[in-house]
Amino acid sequence: MTGRFRDSRRRFLRLLILAGGGTLALSPRTRADDSDKMSKTQAEYQDSPKDIQMCATCTLFVAPHACKVVEGKISPDGWCKAYAMAD
Ligand code: SF4
Repeated sequence: MTGRFRDSRRRFLRLLILAGGGTLALSPRTRADDSDKMSKTQAEYQDSPKDIQMCATCTLFVAPHACKVVEGKISPDGWCKAYAMAD
């Protein structure tokens, strides 16, 4: 194997790796979007707290109005069956 061939092969492999990384970065499946989440109906979401439990104190809440596992606009005062209290 000649040095020139080895250099071009190395350059080609580097391009493949960069292209693959770019594809992953652009893939919609690499980030959590609403299509990966439960609907409000599935989560039995409500716009009001349940006892002392509310989205604002749930570890899955994303301020100001989102949730990691339930789709759509989420109220800090809301609640759903996936509520997860911080330890
Ligand atoms: S209670 Fe449910 S909707 Fe609210 S932040 Fe937690 S998981 Fe999301």
